[in-house]
Amino acid sequence: PQLINRIAAGEVIERPTSVIKELVENSLDAKATQIHITVRGGGQSLVRIQDNGHGMVEEDLKLSVHRHTTSKLSHSDLWNIHTFGFRGEALASITSVSKATLTSKVLDHPHGFSLYIEGGTQHPLKPIACETGTCIEIRDLFFATPARLKFLRSPSQEYIHITHCLDRFLLLNPAVSFFLRLDEKQKIFEATSLENRIQHLLNMPSTQGFWLQTQIQDITVTGWGALPGAHRRNADRLFVYVNQRPIEDRMLIQSIRFAYQDLIPKDRYPCVILFLSIPYSDVDVNVHPAKTQVRFKAPQEIRAVVIAALKKALMQNGQ
Ligand code: ADP
Ligand code: MG
Repeated sequence: PQLINRIAAGEVIERPTSVIKELVENSLDAKATQIHITVRGGGQSLVRIQDNGHGMVEEDLKLSVHRHTTSKLSHSDLWNIHTFGFRGEALASITSVSKATLTSKVLDHPHGFSLYIEGGTQHPLKPIACETGTCIEIRDLFFATPARLKFLRSPSQEYIHITHCLDRFLLLNPAVSFFLRLDEKQKIFEATSLENRIQHLLNMPSTQGFWLQTQIQDITVTGWGALPGAHRRNADRLFVYVNQRPIEDRMLIQSIRFAYQDLIPKDRYPCVILFLSIPYSDVDVNVHPAKTQVRFKAPQEIRAVVIAALKKALMQNGQ
């Protein structure tokens, strides 16, 4: 299984940012309201994610690093996925190519357990005094796959990706407090409203934008967009979520650009946050292990709804 895990790691864990994405998703799945994220050396030397979620009992902690053990999916559920995780391969993959310490405690247990696993080799569990929740510490990522190590970018490059990835979670979860530490840089995002989170993150008062909400048949689009005058010069900031998952999708991004097309100068870029809600049977999130891509059954319909939603809101706001 070690070889399989390392091969899977190549797919799921492309780079240090992928580790952070998977671990933060797990913390959110565990209903954490506070997540501490510490990163050193661009994530290659250290990624530590500590949460106050529901934690794991001894047996689950042991199983969590095994491939295809997920506590989140029953077979008939495949089209009806409400949690981020469901494949049960992230922890198995990550711990097969790093030196990992997993610590976890559930609420009604007096102490927690700690598990050390190096290159996929699991050491015996140890009881440990700790708070309720889970702390996962990943050191020396890819030490077990030197070929992958060679392709890592510089820490500063990686921090751009990490920030991009975390921004998506910050906007999706304004009610969760995030404490970030990237090397010596510290940033705190206290739990707040979506409005305040937008303001904080995009550095733009939410009055420079508009809220939008449109429902056409069983597709709902909600979100926020900056007014054309408030748009960015250097790069666009588009955040798109489908059924509460941050996703990357060309079609959706092009739809947003299209809706703004005649309203902003060519050298300006839109700044939009869109939450799409689509019946689970009309979208497949199980396309890629990293789960940032989706496949729509009727992409043209989605495109039309997104454009309609944005145009309507822009018009209502005098554009
Ligand atoms: P998945 O998220 O797809 O189920 P993972 O490999 O990411 O697979 O995690 C395996 C299992 O470990 C999860 O199903 C969950 O039961 C447990 N787990 C992982 N991280 C946490 C956490 N932060 N809090 C509680 N349980 C966790
Ligand atoms: Mg997961």
